Amino acid sequence: MSKEIKIKIDGMEIVVPEGTSILDAAKKANINIPTLCYHKDLTPTGACGMCVVDIGALTLKRACITPIENGMEVITHSKKVINARKAVLELIMSNHPDECLECVRNKTCELQELAENLKIDELPFERSKFDKPLDTNGVIIRDPNKCILCGRCVTVCQEVQTVYALEFTNRGFDTTVKPFMDNALADTVCTNCGQCTNVCPVGALYERSDIDKVWDAINDPTKHVVVQEAPAVRVAIGEPFGLPVGTVSSGKMHTALKRLGFDMVFDTNFSADLTIMEEGTEVVTKLLKALTTNDFSQIPVVTSCSPGWVKFMETYFPNLKHHVSSAKSPQQMFGTLVKTYYAEKANIDAKDIVSVSIMPCTAKKFEADRPEMKDSGYQDVDYVLTTREFSRMIKQAGIDFVNLPEEEAAELMGFYTGAGTIFGASGGVMEAALRTAYFVLAGKDLENVDIMPVRGLEGIKEASVMIPLKEELQNDLGGVKEFEAKVAVAHGLGNARKLMEIVDKDMKEKGVCRYHFIEIMACPGGCVGGGGQPYGMDLAGKGRRAEGLYKEDKEMLEFRCSHYNKAVNKAYEDYLGAPYSEKAHKLLHTKYIDRSDLK
Ligand code: SF4
Ligand code: SF4
Ligand code: SF4
Repeated sequence: MSKEIKIKIDGMEIVVPEGTSILDAAKKANINIPTLCYHKDLTPTGACGMCVVDIGALTLKRACITPIENGMEVITHSKKVINARKAVLELIMSNHPDECLECVRNKTCELQELAENLKIDELPFERSKFDKPLDTNGVIIRDPNKCILCGRCVTVCQEVQTVYALEFTNRGFDTTVKPFMDNALADTVCTNCGQCTNVCPVGALYERSDIDKVWDAINDPTKHVVVQEAPAVRVAIGEPFGLPVGTVSSGKMHTALKRLGFDMVFDTNFSADLTIMEEGTEVVTKLLKALTTNDFSQIPVVTSCSPGWVKFMETYFPNLKHHVSSAKSPQQMFGTLVKTYYAEKANIDAKDIVSVSIMPCTAKKFEADRPEMKDSGYQDVDYVLTTREFSRMIKQAGIDFVNLPEEEAAELMGFYTGAGTIFGASGGVMEAALRTAYFVLAGKDLENVDIMPVRGLEGIKEASVMIPLKEELQNDLGGVKEFEAKVAVAHGLGNARKLMEIVDKDMKEKGVCRYHFIEIMACPGGCVGGGGQPYGMDLAGKGRRAEGLYKEDKEMLEFRCSHYNKAVNKAYEDYLGAPYSEKAHKLLHTKYIDRSDLK
């Protein structure tokens, strides 16, 4: 246990553990020291100098990187301190365009908030010229004119995601943040994960907006506009409207979409259940083959729902791409079925359908645009909106989200189970898959479907589940009575890299891996922490969003396993045949490419 230390902050005596920063100690005393480059989930750098405090030393100290010392007396807001902060802000503002009203971050901008709190009446310096061109890879947009050099994007891209698409270049006054080796963003290894857009305190990094195109489609009487919403959206969409973090807003979300004018409101949770039927069948098929032949070269199977992870894998681990499930993500399975299965059922020409998805994710825009995602004969998903864009549309339409009544999505492709809901949390796909794999292998359901070891925010989680084999399988496998399924879960690409290095090493050294099934999500916390979710959330808040998903799962009572999704079972009966059938394979599975030349 660390030693407790007594200090004084603004005259208040407090006791905090040794090693605590002045910033965190002040928080404990309910004093908010202003910050700009600091982010709770990232290594503090002290780059901006906004958090200076007076500890009686010759110079002011940066509270985010200065640890407390026994007997320290800290003044957080003397005139000297406030003037120093104002000077920092004036310098930043003179290098920053005055475009708040047109800016994507208007009213969610941390610089704007600081300017309001510190009240800068007049800038003592002339504003610079802002003529640097925007840089984009088609999904992420970088506005170098608005960059305040806080470094958060570099830290998240390099340290958390280990992608290294962004870096600091030059020194002193010439310092800039740019894509690696001064390339255009489109020519880097960027995975489109959007974590940089989440941590950027200003409007210097943001996602491509598809809002206008969606409004055009809604207002086009010749188009039938269908919408799906990902599991993680329902526990975050309430935040921009003041609802507590983790509030489950499924019903209000469906109502809002109907009021926005979508012709048909379905739910991606339906196709999350469908993914489990396809991916789960793939895992069980490959596993039984491996157990029969004693050839484990195709095991483990790794999940494929996270497009940021898929691009990362194609870039850094293309030698392992045959381990990644061929099942499309729920978004893309849904998109294909809307223009085939639904078009047929509703007797609508697929060319008149516009398929829109609401996602917590920026990389989903890239995934929808992948050239191979046209199995319906058309682009399967036409437009992808992030949760942030969805909240903007609700505001544009003047909808009072908080007081909306709760409505269901249409059953055909909107009915879902708790297994579909928990897809949005790290470990959720694994838990959903294990519930169904257990049923397929044991011939009965798990007594308790809550698989706790795969839940939570630990970077890499491991678990094993003992599955008693049903009699026919025991006969096929020469009398083997049970099977211990060994699984692992990683969230955040840095953790994904560590886990895949283990897989690579196992396969190279032993020809067999310690795990049978692996779940990987590109974003910290899973999709609840996606790059398109509302701003300003730390990892603990992402955990509260996940709790909302587990709450909805629990409330589903007898519908907590994908194999009990009656709408999915109907889609198999009426259209797809069986899980992993030829037709299902043609429509619901995909291939990956080698992008190692991007490195
Ligand atoms: S980034 Fe913030 S301060 Fe800059 S223009 Fe946008 S809203 Fe205004
Ligand atoms: S989107 Fe992700 S990979 Fe691309 S620059 Fe941002 S943090 Fe890095
Ligand atoms: S782009 Fe945003 S996060 Fe990156 S350094 Fe500039 S202001 Fe900070």
